[in-house]
Amino acid sequence: MIIRLEEKIKEKQKKNILSIVKSIGYKSAEVKTQAGNYFVCIGSREFDIRLIGSLDGVADVHRVSDSYKLVSKKWKVGYSAVSLGDGVKVGGKELTIMAGPCSIESEEQVSSMVKHLVENGVRIMRGGVFKPRSSPYAFRGMGMAGLKMFHRICKKSGIKIITEVMQVSQIAEMYDYVDIFQVGARNSQNFNLLDELGKVDKPVLLKRGMSGTIDELLQSAEYVFSNGNEKLLLCERGIRTYETAYRNTFDINAIAVLKEKSHLPVIADPSHGIGVREHVAAVALAAAVAGADGIIYEVHEKPEEAASDGQQTLNFSESSEFVSKLRKLDALKYAL
Ligand code: PEP
Ligand code: MN
Repeated sequence: MIIRLEEKIKEKQKKNILSIVKSIGYKSAEVKTQAGNYFVCIGSREFDIRLIGSLDGVADVHRVSDSYKLVSKKWKVGYSAVSLGDGVKVGGKELTIMAGPCSIESEEQVSSMVKHLVENGVRIMRGGVFKPRSSPYAFRGMGMAGLKMFHRICKKSGIKIITEVMQVSQIAEMYDYVDIFQVGARNSQNFNLLDELGKVDKPVLLKRGMSGTIDELLQSAEYVFSNGNEKLLLCERGIRTYETAYRNTFDINAIAVLKEKSHLPVIADPSHGIGVREHVAAVALAAAVAGADGIIYEVHEKPEEAASDGQQTLNFSESSEFVSKLRKLDALKYAL
């Protein structure tokens, strides 16, 4: 059960609500986010919900039977959207496109990418500076110096930045240079990192773990939300299956199911989802039809020279064609 509290609730009213919740055999946790104040209550006994709804200080109350609560669709009317400022938004009517290289590599690379994005009307650039790599000898990113350069160039053109944070100590140093913190598949259940990202007031894109279930993804999202940050995006990026014909198996089901189970915006990552350049567009278009709120994909001026993930990266002309197809499809969605 989620009890949303009135903004100006008094301590006395809170105590009264808690004692009634306790009397019906429920455990409760108080959650204060940047947007609201809640009691999240766990229990199974049947009772008349009006008992809670009628109490002073209660704005509304909802039964949520899912193991995750605040990220569940069951208590929220409508879907959440996340604003990045300057008119850039994720969630809502329009499909959001985020694009950029797997890794930030150089000033020239970022400048030509920004130009490409501006020409195609894409407002959010991706690019890792801290790269989780399977081999410790592979390129592991430019680090903070790269992020500062990335930010300096993007700022001039009004491009927002999404980049991966790998550990708690990086959050504070990255904060001023980031518009969306990305949590990668390998950190999807790094609960310390999720707790800390709950304390920041910038959006977090949470990727599904490589072998993560939908329930696990939503429980991870609950960590961030219940620590105070409601600006959350869920990302399907493919899971590991027995199939070896491509890098990962993009789970199209997840898009539809996440939209049913959660009010949070759902983003599809077709690049990591299939890992093969030729099929990125097909997977993304399918995800858009399935209900994705946004697409994040990898693009590079010369994919064959990319420091990481070149095999799944579009070149500029493929990228322009792809963006135009996505927009055409997006315009049709209300006809479906
Ligand atoms: C990435 O976005 O480049 C990345 C490393 O993604 P994932 O965590 O999904 O593997
Ligand atoms: Mn990548």
